[in-house]
Amino acid sequence: MPNRVNYQKALDGILDALPQDGEPPRLFLHACCAPCSSYVLEYLSRYFSITLFYYNPNISPAPEYEHRVEEARRLVREMPLVHPVTVEEGRYDPQEFFAIARGLEDAPEGGERCFACYRLRLRETARIAKERGFDWFCTTLSISPLKNAQKLNEIGEETAAEFGVRWLPSDFKKREGFKRSIVLSEKYGLYRQDYCGCVYSRRELRGGVDRKFRPPFQRARRASGTRISADRSGSGDRRVPVAHKQGADRSGSGDPAGRGARCAGGTRISADRAGRRDQSPDHSAACKPFP
Ligand code: SF4
Repeated sequence: MPNRVNYQKALDGILDALPQDGEPPRLFLHACCAPCSSYVLEYLSRYFSITLFYYNPNISPAPEYEHRVEEARRLVREMPLVHPVTVEEGRYDPQEFFAIARGLEDAPEGGERCFACYRLRLRETARIAKERGFDWFCTTLSISPLKNAQKLNEIGEETAAEFGVRWLPSDFKKREGFKRSIVLSEKYGLYRQDYCGCVYSRRELRGGVDRKFRPPFQRARRASGTRISADRSGSGDRRVPVAHKQGADRSGSGDPAGRGARCAGGTRISADRAGRRDQSPDHSAACKPFP
């Protein structure tokens, strides 16, 4: 079995070697959502001038996408940051995602479909970073316990070589990054989604019965009907109750406030009515039950 790389250490080495004076280097930072961005911006804005790039054609339905991007903009407006941060929105064309997900619709969250989804988003980030002369590119995705940091960094390195721009390695969940993102999300009242983003993750969350938002090419197919719980899917998703202030459901998902919410990166942290108990050490330390 190959040795796992400690990407936080790799990042440390790069940050230590950055020049201490002059203009900060420019970082093109792909953002998946506001909760994940919160800690990463707090951390990296000390070193870089950042453009937060919101490119996520994987997210459905459109109102959910729009809400997430608006929360990212609000976070950057409200959060004090050392160097300037701007937000830029990429194309939102869900067909780009459905094209790369074809044939992988039933893959569990954390599997091959997700790797293709990482690649889609990182290639576009690298392409623009190169075109616009950024010094580095990176993604907030590695903060999530549900995201495979090894795979993300491998894809980041491949993409960097393909486009000729430097990849900033990361594993932001290390050093309490994930817990810090939960604290910051609470502080800024950020919307936390209850599914990763795509129609398949949403369907998985709802036990394979979320037919409404399946893409057009899938409508003729039968749902498998198999309930894939997060744990059985191999995603490592462990549910936990958490204090979560949210009013009426703003996601358009039909999920009533307080029933379902995901913390940074997509881990579901809401009260769990199915009776599953959270076993995540990150969560149990950082989250409190609903009052
Ligand atoms: S579960 Fe998340 S990472 Fe995986 S394909 Fe869907 S949106 Fe992309």
